[in-house]
Amino acid sequence: MLRQYELVDRVLSYDPDADEALLNRAYVFSMQAHGSQKRASGDPYFSHPIEVAGILTDLRLDDETIATAILHDTIEDTVATPEQIEKSFGPSVARLVDGVTKLSKIEAQTENERAAENLRKFLLAMSSDIRVLLVKLADRLHNMRTLHHIPSEAKRRRIARETMDIYAPLAERIGMYEFMREMQTLAFQQLEPDAYDSITKRLKQLNDGGGDLISRISSGLRLQLGRAGVKADIQGREKHPYSIWKKMAERHISFEQLSDVMAFRVVVDDIDECYKALGVLHRRWPMVPGRFKDYISTPKRNGYRSLHTSIIHSEKMRIEVQIRTEEMHAEAEYGLAAHWAYKQGKPAGEAGNHSWIRDLVDILEHADNPEELLEHTRMAMYQDRIFAFSPTGELIQLPKGSTAIDFAYAVHTDVGDTTVGAKINGRVVPLRTLIENGDQVQILRSKAQEPQVEWLTFAFTGKARAAIRRFVRHKEREETIALGRKFYDEIVRRIPAALGPEALPEALKRLKLPDEEALMEAVARKLIDDATVMDALMPGSAEKAGVKRRESGQREAISMKGLTPGVAFQLADCCNPVPGDRIIGVRRPDKPVEVHTIDCSKLAEQQDSEWVDLAWGDGSDGGTARLVVIVKNEPGALGIMSGILGAHHANIVNLSLSHRDAAFHTYDVTIEVHDVQHLMKIIAALRAADAVSQAERSPAG
Ligand code: MN
Repeated sequence: MLRQYELVDRVLSYDPDADEALLNRAYVFSMQAHGSQKRASGDPYFSHPIEVAGILTDLRLDDETIATAILHDTIEDTVATPEQIEKSFGPSVARLVDGVTKLSKIEAQTENERAAENLRKFLLAMSSDIRVLLVKLADRLHNMRTLHHIPSEAKRRRIARETMDIYAPLAERIGMYEFMREMQTLAFQQLEPDAYDSITKRLKQLNDGGGDLISRISSGLRLQLGRAGVKADIQGREKHPYSIWKKMAERHISFEQLSDVMAFRVVVDDIDECYKALGVLHRRWPMVPGRFKDYISTPKRNGYRSLHTSIIHSEKMRIEVQIRTEEMHAEAEYGLAAHWAYKQGKPAGEAGNHSWIRDLVDILEHADNPEELLEHTRMAMYQDRIFAFSPTGELIQLPKGSTAIDFAYAVHTDVGDTTVGAKINGRVVPLRTLIENGDQVQILRSKAQEPQVEWLTFAFTGKARAAIRRFVRHKEREETIALGRKFYDEIVRRIPAALGPEALPEALKRLKLPDEEALMEAVARKLIDDATVMDALMPGSAEKAGVKRRESGQREAISMKGLTPGVAFQLADCCNPVPGDRIIGVRRPDKPVEVHTIDCSKLAEQQDSEWVDLAWGDGSDGGTARLVVIVKNEPGALGIMSGILGAHHANIVNLSLSHRDAAFHTYDVTIEVHDVQHLMKIIAALRAADAVSQAERSPAG
């Protein structure tokens, strides 16, 4: 176990400004808190956080991270409280320790693949301060190194599986390849002991047989490249047992058939040299078909660049070769660290890069444009996700912007439908409350509850909105039918004779309607005029009563999404919406839903009415639009304007001169158009005409 002064010296060796007192306090605090607790190995428990801190000094992390590592198990496993931590070590360390503690709490819920994927995402999302994740990964790495001390095989396997599924991929994701390889090797050893043994044995034989094979092959490559004038730095390595095993399993081949147990890295000065080196190698040794990949011209999604090829070096020996520049190499090996080191103009790995993590944190917290970084770490795809928990610990994934009602519907539609309230982290909150990462959300329900229209004003997810709308539509239909009945009673009253019990069923047959409700809907929507209904109930009665049929020819080509088919609506004449406009419906008792453009000033006066989210039905066509057109006061200008309208088949409904002066005439023009695109084309054509000075749609309202 590292002694106190050794640990402090290590940190001071790469960061002379580190807060020595902070590290000493953390050491003593953790030692006292863990007291006589023991690890499975029989070592004092305290040795674990100290070793974790030691691992992180290899990454040259800052004093706060090292202190966090020393303290990382004190909240979870001892009587220490977050308040004590904050008091002794300040808010920043307290926040980091809290982050690591939260991650540990949810660790044990990974029974299936999906849960693992969720947990990975959650860990990433929770680790907006990347230092939390680094401490967690070092914690796991040390637990893996000491895994063999755990007596229960089932428990060892569970931990190894989790490491393989969650922590190794996370390490890879943030570019900590050394962590990743060691975790995979240790987990592989636990999960597939026989395969592990046989592969390590074969690797040993291979080396025993050929002397120092790696360095012999390296010098061969160097010689060949040197003859062609390519200056290259060449490193060779054996692949680690897990990646060899994975290849064998993926390709169903034996160790002997496995071509590239050895991999060589050729690092050259620039991109031209990369391709030159590739040519040299391919000319000297045959390439293995299908193995060449050009990640320089087409980088991987995480930004990785290199040329990959496999060559047949000798009869039995195929080797993998990666060719790259120094910069590509640093990025590939050190991930984040290299990225930032290069930003700062100094390569990673050199002394002085201990500050990268601090810069990174700083940038995450303060930068105007952290997108590039997030993109690089692939964290971006999780930045718009929220992860919250049910009281039973189930992980619920939501898009950012989701509220308690979205959470309820994400759990189950029935839960959403019967929601009356919510508790977040134990406190009762309004349903419109935004969910934050790590929140524990409890939904309060009542069987008597039903979805409320106003939920639509804060429901964010498609699932919640669709469920609420479905319900609201159902209610709308009921209202429409009720409205239809009122109209129907009026119609019946106008028939100058009493109707028998058979009149209504007969009328339905004549009108080819399936049932009474369909008739009421049609009447409410004015799909059938009064005279038709009267004649269906009692032939000839409309004429007797002097009721005329409605003139046909009215446009029926408009429909609304967001309203039950059959609900009556009308386009408001204040803003004259045309298909394609963004629209809102205003529902008033016993009247058709009034459709306004979303920016109509009349809407503001309707705050007390119920608003309905609407969209134009597919293929909706037709509407009137009002334009203000200012033309130059010159002969023929008006003719040019109406010519343009005519050419676009826009029927002029109304035209009036609203203002004139010596230079310009202003016209208010009302035209019939198909939709917004049609209208925009007309406006563009008007603007393009020399005679026209301005053309605009009238302000709504
Ligand atoms: Mn731990």
